[in-house]
Amino acid sequence: MSLFGRPRARLSSWPTPLEECPRLSAALGGPHLWVKRDDLTDLGLGGNKVRKLEYLLGEAISQGADTVVTTGALQSNHARLTAAACRRLGLEVVLVLADQAGAVAAAASEPARGNLLLDRLYGARVVVLDDDSDPAIAAAMDEVASDLIRRGRRPYLIPVGGSNPIGVLGYVGAALEIAGQAQTEGVAFDHLFVATGSCGTQAGLHLGAALYLPGTQVHGVTISRGAGAQMARVDALAAETAARLGLPGHPAPPAVVHDGYVGEGYAVPTREGWEAILLAGRTEGLVLDPVYTGKALSGLIGLIREGILGTTGNVLFVHTGGAPGLLAQTAAFHHYLTQTGEV
Ligand SMILES: *Cc1c(COP(=O)(O)O)cnc(C)c1O
Repeated sequence: MSLFGRPRARLSSWPTPLEECPRLSAALGGPHLWVKRDDLTDLGLGGNKVRKLEYLLGEAISQGADTVVTTGALQSNHARLTAAACRRLGLEVVLVLADQAGAVAAAASEPARGNLLLDRLYGARVVVLDDDSDPAIAAAMDEVASDLIRRGRRPYLIPVGGSNPIGVLGYVGAALEIAGQAQTEGVAFDHLFVATGSCGTQAGLHLGAALYLPGTQVHGVTISRGAGAQMARVDALAAETAARLGLPGHPAPPAVVHDGYVGEGYAVPTREGWEAILLAGRTEGLVLDPVYTGKALSGLIGLIREGILGTTGNVLFVHTGGAPGLLAQTAAFHHYLTQTGEV
């Protein structure tokens, strides 16, 4: 189904599974945990960006675009899935990958791993930047787009994480999908947890919960920014999306964001994150990642241990994917296992 009459490109079969996690729930001493398997979207090893890309690339195609330009870090899941989606739809793709100093040399000399390996596999044109500041990225995107136009191409630009009101629609749709599955299962979710980075996923769930999941509190666990800045962005994006859809005002209450689980910063693994990854793997066979979902689950676990969530009720963890990012962190994983004495 296409929401609010917006064009949508088909990139996966839906719905993604909704599963109970009895062993993980027991290991944590309750509440009753469920997982929404958005890591199992069909495309390019899966992940949350597929829902956003269905609406973004639907719009790109309806506008007659032939080349998609987007951006992210060297290990961006969003960039990898944009490349996969473009191949599936017959579009050209340029990825502006901006990372810390040394990224250009590293990308040129080191074997590509994880998401970057898949970007290469899809034959995306990759432009690496040593500077991940917003102005540097904007300038590089502009340059790529102008060059494409000069050569007679029709570029369509997607912001970092696909987080604009068009991309957000994908997660408004996810809330509607969850509401349908919850009804079938006869379960009402008291809380929903999700990793939040570029904010589009939480903004969509926040708005979608206000529309379709009354009684479910959406929690974002931030993997980079502080809670105040992240809440402001989620609320602004949700309001902008509501305005675009012609919904009366902004129906959702203020976003809830937890920022105690970031650790040293974006993409730097934490001990609590590794613990959460191992627990989810060893109780339920799930694959979480150290950048997003591991930190998000560590937040959920932390709030249970602090007694803030309580031990009853139903809690939904939205698994947003990210496994290729785990496979790129071999050294950090090995280091963690040597610290715990497992190897
Ligand atoms: C991008 C991403 C997120 C965060 O989604 P945003 O919409 O950027 O906040 C969470 N998990 C994974 C695996 C991601 O790739």
